[in-house]
Amino acid sequence: MTQVKSYAAQNATTPLAPWTFSRREPGPHDVQFDILYCGVCHSDLHQIRDEWGNAIFPMVPGHEIVGRVTRIGDKVTKFKVGDLAAVGCLVDSCRTCESCKDGLEQYCENGSSGTYNSMEQDGKTPTYGGYSSMIVTDEAFVLRVSDKLPLANVAPLLCAGVTTWSPLRHWKIGKGHRVGVIGLGGLGHMAVKFAAAFGAEVTMLSTSPSKEADARKLGAHKFVLTSDKNQLKTVRGYFDFIIDTVSAPHDYNMVLSLLKTNGVQICVGVPPTPMEIIGFNLIAKRRSIAGSMIGGIPETQEMLDFCAEHNIVSDVEVIPISYINEAYERMLKGDVRYRFVIDMATL
Ligand code: NAP
Ligand code: ZN
Ligand code: ZN
Repeated sequence: MTQVKSYAAQNATTPLAPWTFSRREPGPHDVQFDILYCGVCHSDLHQIRDEWGNAIFPMVPGHEIVGRVTRIGDKVTKFKVGDLAAVGCLVDSCRTCESCKDGLEQYCENGSSGTYNSMEQDGKTPTYGGYSSMIVTDEAFVLRVSDKLPLANVAPLLCAGVTTWSPLRHWKIGKGHRVGVIGLGGLGHMAVKFAAAFGAEVTMLSTSPSKEADARKLGAHKFVLTSDKNQLKTVRGYFDFIIDTVSAPHDYNMVLSLLKTNGVQICVGVPPTPMEIIGFNLIAKRRSIAGSMIGGIPETQEMLDFCAEHNIVSDVEVIPISYINEAYERMLKGDVRYRFVIDMATL
């Protein structure tokens, strides 16, 4: 076992604070790497505050992890010492069910192992995430990262990137589609970049007037302030798809009203309380509501390779780990442009 420094939540109400725990020695198929950067996802905040009711404490959050390989097991083929490496939201799954065989490990029928706040496949060893100095993961769940891109800006691709990439690909969204993205935060800004890169007409739907110029720079063709009824009217019945990234309770019926016939509201944001839907808003135009969770390992690699080829990365504010609790407060206020990333050298 190796002792690892980290920041952890000991319960749902106290701030994150330094904590030391141990990780396994690398087995034959394992890659060990020093963590250089870790992104801060709103899911980290939902989970340390136990807003989803599934918290396991102590909890070391972080599932947007990039670093450099320091040790490998003797059966590892994809990595060598010194390579860049990354881990996203998953560290293992059963690998035998239909979903796993289809490369959709996030939907593993026997339960995948999340990078933190979860259990290894043995069902009893807790997993600890990327707000830590190093990680040991089976190479099947370790991603390759191009050395052409700035590493701090790559980290958020591991969750915010693939979580928006996956539904855009699944629904084959691109040229000829009108896409709304609601919520300009970590996920929202990647959804705008990808949807624009795929050739869709992209509209940013935001509660923050101050984000309009940024939205356009990120690739949005239009900007609609959702608190302004007159602006909303101009996009009623307008969209083929809306990617809903909002982290807090909000009006799903308003979102549905913006979809045209057969339009789909794709929820990736996870408000902590149930949302109310009026049936008429679905039947009136044969609309649907769907959801999508992160992405599988093959599509995560595909997304990272696409980003390297097209020079797409996340817009980040790099922070020292001691700033993490303040960063959470700012994230809650929607004050992130557009992802906090922890420089792990500050641990
Ligand atoms: P974030 O950076 O905090 O962005 C959320 C954005 O939502 C905010 O910037 C804000 O954008 C908008 N918003 C916040 N409160 C709002 C409110 N009360 N009403 C309307 N809009 C509001 O969060 P994130 O990291 O992108 O994560 C977003 C959500 O996705 C979280 O719930 C997270 O847990 C979830 N998530 C899901 C998956 C998945 O697999 N499906 C993966 C990762 C994260 P504006 O200022 O533009 O309004
Ligand atoms: Zn995340
Ligand atoms: Zn499985």
